[in-house]
Formats: sequence, structure tokens, C-alpha cells
Amino acid sequence: MRNLLGRLDLHTVCEGARCPNRAACWHDSAAAFLILGDVCTRDCRFCAIPHAARPAPPDPGEPARLAEAAAAMGLRHVVVTSVTRDDLPDGGAAHFAATIRALRGRLPGATVEVLIPDFQGEAAALDLVLAAAPDILNHNLETVERLQPAVRPQADYERSLCVLRHAAQAGARVKSGLMLGMGETEAELSAALRDLRAAGVSLLTLGQYLAPSAAHHPVARFVPPAEFDQWRAAALALGFASVAAAPHVRSSYHAEELMAIGSAP
Ligand code: SF4
Repeated sequence: MRNLLGRLDLHTVCEGARCPNRAACWHDSAAAFLILGDVCTRDCRFCAIPHAARPAPPDPGEPARLAEAAAAMGLRHVVVTSVTRDDLPDGGAAHFAATIRALRGRLPGATVEVLIPDFQGEAAALDLVLAAAPDILNHNLETVERLQPAVRPQADYERSLCVLRHAAQAGARVKSGLMLGMGETEAELSAALRDLRAAGVSLLTLGQYLAPSAAHHPVARFVPPAEFDQWRAAALALGFASVAAAPHVRSSYHAEELMAIGSAP
């Protein structure tokens, strides 16, 4: 996998975010591609990806190479995410759309999930991505409202809900995710689940937050697996179609299964 990615000069969030599931996923030929470079313009306090004000310009050849890699890996479900590019006029939305179209051309039978940034709430940018008709539109809320300023200072709770609501109203299948163990209360987590459901989110991931380093937001506690089961039951009771909730769950972990469960009659 590493040779293929190196040969095609591609990045994955698996590596960038130091995901604990990398070995297992890569063994199963599953990976989440990271487009628009591996340097972000934001500095979320839970994220290991390096940041800079002016990363390198987008690489126009990346969509085709990514589609080639996905074909070489024999992927049935392709997950594409990106760093946040607040330095670009459209936040990289056109690049996302080009990547979806390259995948459609190269792998017509595959499903495509995009985990997008908030494009600073620009509806025109979001519409560019939606026009390319991804099978799943994913955008993470990450944590509860009170913790947003400390955890993702350049993002915004209401703006993220707006992105999700806009996509759902446009007819997309919408997914989001939260990390637990950052200091949220039960009442705050329940409120966030209700807000996500009200925004039209149908697929949900809940996982344990792990701090990439001592310099990042501290882990407040390790949530026991039984509690994740309770939150899964609570989320399903709110009407989410499919919920993955366990300590090791991440946004794109077993994304294909989550999507399939969500579309079961
Ligand atoms: S927006 Fe935040 S979470 Fe996403 S890559 Fe940038 S720093 Fe990491």
C-alpha cells in the first residue's frame, strides 16, 4: 500500500492523523485518501496534521492518480477527505468534484464518500461538491458546542450544522461524527446528537478521542465500550439509520459497512 501511494504521490488521512486502525484497514485494502496536500490552514487542537497559512497549490493531476490508486486497490467504496484550505477561493471544492468525477470514470461500480471541510460555510462551494453526486457526504461536528472554541478554534458548531443541513436538503446521504472523552457531559452529547439528527444526518460515528501529543487537547477520560453501546442505542432511537460507536471507531472506519447498514430496508 505504501509503495502504491508513494509511486502515485498520494496522501492518506490514515497516516496524517496517525489513525490507530491503519494496520487493520490497510490489510483489508481500505484507506481514506487525503487530497489538497498534507498541510492544513487550520490548527484543530485534536489533529496531528501539520498546518501553515499558505500550503502548496492543489495538484491538478491528483484526481486521476487517486482514481488509479483506488482501481489498483480494488476498492468498492472510496473515502476521500482533505485538509482545510481556507487559502483557496472555493476551499478546494472544485478539486473534490474533479476527484469524484475521476473515480466515477475509472471505477463506475464503486461508491464514493467525501469527508469535507466546512468551506467556511460557502453554499456555492458545497454545491460544487454536491453537483458531483457523492454517495455519502460526510462532515464531522467533532465535539459538543461548548468545546468547539477550545477543540476546533477556526470552525463553528452552527456552521457545521448548516453544511450538513444544506447537503441533506439537497438530497444527499449525510454522515457526521463525534469524538468522546474530550470533557463533554452526557447532556451536551445528547444535545449534539439531537442537533445532528435535526440537520438530517442519517449515518453517525462515535469514537474515543486520543491525543496525538501532550501539546494537543487533553483526553478527559476513556469511555468504556459499554457506554458506547448505550450511545449507539440512544442514537438509533433518535432515528439515525446507521451508527458505529466504539472506542476505535473513526470517521471512515468500516465506512462501506456503515453505508450498507444505513441503506438496508
Ligand atoms: S481542519 Fe482541523 S481536523 Fe481537519 S486537517 Fe485541518 S487541523 Fe486537522
